[in-house]
Amino acid sequence: MAIELLTIGTELLLGNTVDTNSAEIGRALAAAGVPVLRRTSVADDPAAIREAALAALQRTGAVLATGGLGPTADDVTKKVIADLFGMRLTFRQEVWEALVARFARAGRVPPEKNREQAEVPEGGVILPNRWGTAPGLWLEGPQGLAILLPGVPAEMRGLLHHEVLPRLTPRAGGRVVRSRTVRTTGVPESALAERLDRVEAEVAPLSLAYLPGIEGVDLRLTAWNLAPEEADRLLAESAALLTGRAREWCYGEGDDDLAAVLLAEARRASLRLATAESCTGGGIGARLTGIPGSSDVFLGGVIAYHNEAKRSLLGVPGDLFATHGAVSEPVAAAMAAGAARRFGAELTISVTGIAGPDGGTPDKPVGLVYLGFSVRGKVTVHRHQFPGTREDVRGRAVQMALFRLLQLLRAGSSPAGATV
Ligand code: ATP
Ligand code: MG
Repeated sequence: MAIELLTIGTELLLGNTVDTNSAEIGRALAAAGVPVLRRTSVADDPAAIREAALAALQRTGAVLATGGLGPTADDVTKKVIADLFGMRLTFRQEVWEALVARFARAGRVPPEKNREQAEVPEGGVILPNRWGTAPGLWLEGPQGLAILLPGVPAEMRGLLHHEVLPRLTPRAGGRVVRSRTVRTTGVPESALAERLDRVEAEVAPLSLAYLPGIEGVDLRLTAWNLAPEEADRLLAESAALLTGRAREWCYGEGDDDLAAVLLAEARRASLRLATAESCTGGGIGARLTGIPGSSDVFLGGVIAYHNEAKRSLLGVPGDLFATHGAVSEPVAAAMAAGAARRFGAELTISVTGIAGPDGGTPDKPVGLVYLGFSVRGKVTVHRHQFPGTREDVRGRAVQMALFRLLQLLRAGSSPAGATV
C-alpha cells in the first residue's frame, strides 16, 4: 500500500501559504507504514486538479488530497474527483443537519450557499468533520482510492487521525517508519558528535540525524520498515543510549521544552525565579510563561533595555555603565542581584548583550552576551559569543540562559566566581 499527496490551493503556489499539510501527512503516513511516493500541489483549477489526481491514481492507485472542499466558488475538488470516479453528487440530509447544528452552536444559520457542502458523491464514504463544516470523503472505484480532506490544517489533522489512519493502517502490511527525538542543548553539533563517539554504528539498523537549531541539537532516531513492536523496542534502547552519553546536555525527548524542565527542577527545590532582561526583551519570560502552571515558580521579570531602567528598576550602579559599558560582566551581575532583591527570588537570570545587526565594536562584537545568575544570593556570570542574525542571537541567549540555570540548580550550588 502506497499513496500520493495532492495539495490544492492557489495560495500554495503563490507562496502565501506554506504547505504544512504535506509535511504533516507525510510524517503520519510514514509512521503508519503507508509511504508517500510523490506529492503535487496545484491551483484551485478544475483541469489541473483532474489531471494531477488522474496521474496519481494511474501511477500509484491511491491519492490523498487536501483543500478546496469549502463552500466558495474556488472550492471545486469534490466535483472534479466525483466526476473522475463517475459518481453523481447527491444531497444528503444528515450532512446538512450536522452543518446546521454546527452553525446553531455559534448562534447562526448557515447561508444557502453552504447547502452544496451537503452534496456527496454517491457511493462515497462520508468522513464526519467535528472540527469544521466540510466533511472529508473516501471514494473507491475501479480508478483506485481517493481521500479528500479540507485544507484547514486543524480540520485536516482531526480527520487524518480519527478517520483516515484507522482505515489505512490495516492495509499497510504491518511495517512502520517511526522516529524518536532526543533533545540536547548548550553544546555545538561537533562537540556533541565527539562525545557520542560514532554512536551511529551502535544504533543501527536505526538511522541517526543531527538536527541543529536555535534551541540546540535534536538527535532524531528513525526505524525504517520494521514491525511496530520491534521499532518501538529499538527506538527505546537507542534513545536511552543517546541520553546516557549526552549526559548534562540532554534535557528531554520529543516536544519537551527546556523551560518546563527548568521550572520543574525549581519547583522540586521550592525555589522561585525572576528575570532581568535587556537584549532578549522578555524572551525568557515569554518562554517561562508559555508553560502552563508556571506561576508558582516564576514571579516576574523586568525588561530593562535603557541604562536608566537598569539603574532605577534593578539598582545597577550608574558608574558601571561609564567604566565597563552596559554589555559587561559587572552589569550582568548587578542586574541578577537587583532582580533577586526586587522580586525576593531565590533564583534569577539576567541578560545583557549586543544582538545586532548594528552596535558591535572590535572589543564587543555583535553576538556578545553576558548571562548572569543568582542562586540563593550567589551570583555568577557567563560570557557567550553567539553566531547568526539578531533573531538567532536572542533565541540562543534565551535557550542558553535556561540551560545554564538548570545546570547551576542540578549542581546544587553555583561554582565559585565568574566563569567562561
Ligand atoms: P473549508 O471547509 O474551511 O472551506 P477547504 O477545504 O475549502 O476548507 P481551503 O479553502 O482550500 O480549504 O483552505 C482553507 C485554509 O487552509 C486556508 O487558510 C489555506 O491557506 C489553508 N491551507 C490550505 N491548504 C493548506 C496546506 N496544504 N497547508 C497548510 N495550510 C493550508
Ligand atoms: Mg482553497
